[in-house]
Amino acid sequence: MDLNFQARLTVAICASVAVGVIPILLSFTLAQRQGRQIEEDRLLSYARNVLFRSERATQQLYAGIDRLARARHGDPCAPAQIALMSEIDLSSQDIQTMGYIEAGRLLCSSMGLHGAGLPISTGTPVTRGTDGSTLYTRARLPIAPDITFIIVARNGYAAVMHEAITLDIGPSPDHVSMATYSPGSKTFRSQRGTIKPAWAEHPLIGGQTTFDDGAHLVALVASQRFPTVTLAATPLSEVHQSSRQVAKFLVPFGVAAGLALGLLAFLMARRQMGMPALLRAALKRGELFLLYQPIMDLQSGRCIGAEALIRWRQPDGTIVPPDVFIPVAEKSGLIQRVTERVLEIVAADAGSLFAMHPGFHVSVNLAAADLKSHRTVELLAQLMHKTGAKAHNILVEATERGLMDADEVRQVIDAIHALGIEVAVDDFGTGYSSLSYLETFALDYLKIDKSFVDTLATGAATSQVAVHIIEMAKALKLRMIAEGVETEDQARLLKERGVQFAQGWLFARPMPMAALLSHIA
Ligand code: C2E
Ligand code: CA
Ligand code: CA
Repeated sequence: MDLNFQARLTVAICASVAVGVIPILLSFTLAQRQGRQIEEDRLLSYARNVLFRSERATQQLYAGIDRLARARHGDPCAPAQIALMSEIDLSSQDIQTMGYIEAGRLLCSSMGLHGAGLPISTGTPVTRGTDGSTLYTRARLPIAPDITFIIVARNGYAAVMHEAITLDIGPSPDHVSMATYSPGSKTFRSQRGTIKPAWAEHPLIGGQTTFDDGAHLVALVASQRFPTVTLAATPLSEVHQSSRQVAKFLVPFGVAAGLALGLLAFLMARRQMGMPALLRAALKRGELFLLYQPIMDLQSGRCIGAEALIRWRQPDGTIVPPDVFIPVAEKSGLIQRVTERVLEIVAADAGSLFAMHPGFHVSVNLAAADLKSHRTVELLAQLMHKTGAKAHNILVEATERGLMDADEVRQVIDAIHALGIEVAVDDFGTGYSSLSYLETFALDYLKIDKSFVDTLATGAATSQVAVHIIEMAKALKLRMIAEGVETEDQARLLKERGVQFAQGWLFARPMPMAALLSHIA
């Protein structure tokens, strides 16, 4: 194991771990957010529930007070008024009793007259500016000294309610605190559990909000009908508890996904890293083989040649496609050995092919490095010698990228031409190169890439590119081979435009030499 390999292995491991950690972190973050969301929703629903009760109570108590005020003729505690008071409490869910207050004393109520009046003990009663009503919070009456009431009075008439009535929303956990707040007078009308006054002053946008102050999560809801805000709060420890609950469910998935992803990343990296060594072994062990894809003459419909396409069968039987290992071979300096191998296999496969079909040709793909090396010319000459092939039995395909290094490549192409072998430009239009070099090389064929053939029959604006390429090839007197022809429509359009040759699944897929021989027999 060389040092460089070890360094790359370390990088691969670190990268795989990093990839694997992402889903795990994600599941934690998600659990945290989800836990908080659950608690926020729960608190909002408590606060809304309190608000609903508070609005109902407010509505009832003002209706009651107004009825008494309207019915009054002189004495506020006249028998008819007292009778009306008991009728109002009996018909209300929230009101304990109605009454009449003067100078802080309840002079009469639904229960009758109270002589000199029952003193209402409370903190300072708060007068509310807008409607002239007075609010007594935490009020106590001598008839029920243990109970705290809220009393609202206007024009002397008053409604008395249990303080807890609006907070009595049914079962809710002990750690949840709730309150009803009057923003005008900045007073809490009722409250349960820990309440911090600052919470009620938190900015309220759109009628409701949730926030935390570092210790509690708080939900606020404002009434649209009355100057009332209700709130519900819970210690943040409850939120964390909720998150842990979600995490218990979510994190195992995150861990599983992380492990799978990390392993996958590692296997891919290792495979990619080990590829040159594996490829070297493959060359030695003869794991490379060729398939041949028929090339058709569009006019006659006859198969006039085939492109040799390389495959790699690994010892375990998996076939590695060339898109995967050709780039590796190019990067690791193995490509020329691969090309040499391809020409050897063609020689072995061809056997009697050229003797039986003297006009037939086999195309071989050359890489950029091959086009810079005179060794390639030697190998092609050897191929002709070994198989008895004539120059026209062989065609070489040079990619646009391979043609970039003009001067060196020109010499090699000239030498190939000197053998009598013709050259096709492959993958034309898929790289960055310009037209100019096409004119400067003596080329014979242009292969129209599958990507242009694909757009042909679509009528898309891009289909014009194929048309331009065809016109340009004609102007440069290049014969054309269209690649990746899959439909009759494409074949027809290409033929109409004057393209001579084509290959593609419409005609045949790449096949072993034996199949090719029966195909063209
Ligand atoms: P390429 O030279 O452009 O080869 C054409 C590719 O298109 C081949 O893929 C072929 O199987 C595929 N093809 C042909 N007809 C159709 C069709 O109708 N539909 C579709 N979807 N595909 C079609 P393949 O064999 O996987 O080769 C991929 C690339 O690998 C080749 O592209 C070539 O650049 C490279 N390659 C293959 N063999 C060799 C080789 O021996 N030496 C070198 N240097 N490169 C090679
Ligand atoms: Ca090709
Ligand atoms: Ca191509």
